[in-house]
Amino acid sequence: MIYLDYQATTPVAPEVADAMRPWVEDRFANPHSPSRWGREADAAIGVARKQVEKTLGLKGGSLAFTGSATEAINWALKGTVEKAAGSDRRRVITVATEHAAVLDTCDWLADHGAEVVVLPVERDGRVDLELLDRALDNRTLLVAVMMVNNEIGVLQPIPEIAKMAKAAGALMFCDAVQAFGRMEIPRGPDLVAISAHKIHGPKGIGALWMRKGAEPAPLIHGGGQEMGLRSGTLSPALCVGFGAAAKLAEERCNRDYDHVRKLWGAASQALGLGWTVNGSAVHRYCGNLNIRREGVDAARLIADLRDIAFSLGSACASGSGRPSHVLKALGLDYREARCSIRLGFGRYTTQKELVEACKRLAAAAYEQETLDA
Ligand code: PLP
Repeated sequence: MIYLDYQATTPVAPEVADAMRPWVEDRFANPHSPSRWGREADAAIGVARKQVEKTLGLKGGSLAFTGSATEAINWALKGTVEKAAGSDRRRVITVATEHAAVLDTCDWLADHGAEVVVLPVERDGRVDLELLDRALDNRTLLVAVMMVNNEIGVLQPIPEIAKMAKAAGALMFCDAVQAFGRMEIPRGPDLVAISAHKIHGPKGIGALWMRKGAEPAPLIHGGGQEMGLRSGTLSPALCVGFGAAAKLAEERCNRDYDHVRKLWGAASQALGLGWTVNGSAVHRYCGNLNIRREGVDAARLIADLRDIAFSLGSACASGSGRPSHVLKALGLDYREARCSIRLGFGRYTTQKELVEACKRLAAAAYEQETLDA
């Protein structure tokens, strides 16, 4: 199997599995209990939290663990609107290419009294800052824009957006799931969501970083864990795994980045002519290659090449059979979206396997064309 679905999830790093093992096998104490074992588990969580914060590199705030980035996103958006209840600021501005966790939460908010503005993107997938400027006013509470898009890898101008939000007196939320651990997260956003399983950590744990004073109202009530903001017993194993993955990502950030840049070049060459990159080829994370080829049936390619794991877009969109909302937002029609595939590669992808997969993809696409001609 050649694994080219790094945006859906990444393989767990061996160092992460080793760090987690004792907390899975026998160190089972509740980290919130006062026993010595409990205090040891709590201390391990503290070390992991510090490491995740260090890799994130943001100052003047705190980080709460959550069950996923999806939860962190729901909390950031719903909790911010809830906290502002009664004020004039009810407008939430977001972008058409955001992850479903943001867009579906915004739909929910719109059904519950918020005024939601969804901005279109330009043909290259980037936000039009002039449109954002026009949408921002003194009723704007929150601007939610992701850093790196999970389907097309396009990078948004986060520092500029954060500056504009701040000037309008609004908060900024950034979904940094696909950027964290792979590149520097710029200062500016007030709330930032991240996830462990995109950086070779375990599934089932994410986090929300909150600037001091911008903490959203709690979404989950109970035992008062995580500074009274997110109740629920933390899993020491998952927290330790997240910390270990963050540490590795920090240590290997430049090396991993150089590796994916080389892979991008090798993949583009091996695919040959006839493919078009969806979204900006410049403002992007190079571990994501979303491409289309006239006349190809992408779903058939996936069925024909079962030993290569790649996808049509987000893992969620792939299952639904619906055309990707991201490709649609770029202005691609149904036919163009149907002939698009996403290849995602990273730390453990070798150039040899990627080149082999790309050559086989190109051959299968060519075969489709000749059979259908
Ligand atoms: N945001 C982006 C950009 C993602 O790629 C994902 C994962 O697919 C999420 C949010 C949700 O993350 P999680 O799987 O931790 O809920």
